[in-house]
Amino acid sequence: MHCITLQGDSQPIAVGKIICLARNYVAHAAELGNEVPGEPVLFIKPATSIIFDGEAVEIPEYSQDCHHEVELAVLIGCDGKHIKAEEAMSHVAGYGIGIDMTLRDTQAQLKAKGYPWELAKGFDTSCPLSTFVPTEQIDDPHALELSLSVNGEMRQQDSSALMIRRIPETIAAITRAFTLEPGDIILTGTPAGVSRVCAGDKMVAAIEGIGEITIGVQ
Ligand code: ZN
Repeated sequence: MHCITLQGDSQPIAVGKIICLARNYVAHAAELGNEVPGEPVLFIKPATSIIFDGEAVEIPEYSQDCHHEVELAVLIGCDGKHIKAEEAMSHVAGYGIGIDMTLRDTQAQLKAKGYPWELAKGFDTSCPLSTFVPTEQIDDPHALELSLSVNGEMRQQDSSALMIRRIPETIAAITRAFTLEPGDIILTGTPAGVSRVCAGDKMVAAIEGIGEITIGVQ
């Protein structure tokens, strides 16, 4: 079982599924040459992909091009299917920092064949997460500064205001297909500036009001 912690909650929370949004910031879709999709592009990382502050991403031997994607992570607090956007925020228990580590070369090969992306995005250590803060501590999740530096050099720095699909619409879209349960996590997409990391690098990902995590690379 893989658990996260929510500040102020003494019990660890078991993570179910991690549902991720691709192409949710215009500038990031553009930097990869992708169209902004009319419908959300979703994929799932297994809970076994989670690591925490102070741990390290292990790049699988089949990739030479591992990228960071800093993302606002949304923790689900109660069950729901077919959740309406107007009611969606009541299903959110907290917010955290996530890094959607992506093997860009593997992903390109899979995309070219029309295959699923899991080998590029769901490998062990591909989901560094922070502890989560309760929703009451975040005034507006759509007005948070996200940043990620590598070896002290800023690579990603943007506001969650630039999300194309906001959290309520994302939850509504996801729950047309998937039941959300307590302990599920949504990664809401990455802003521009994704770049390669190599063994020995140190990433620091931060989100205003949540904190920061330091993640190594092996
Ligand atoms: Zn991502």
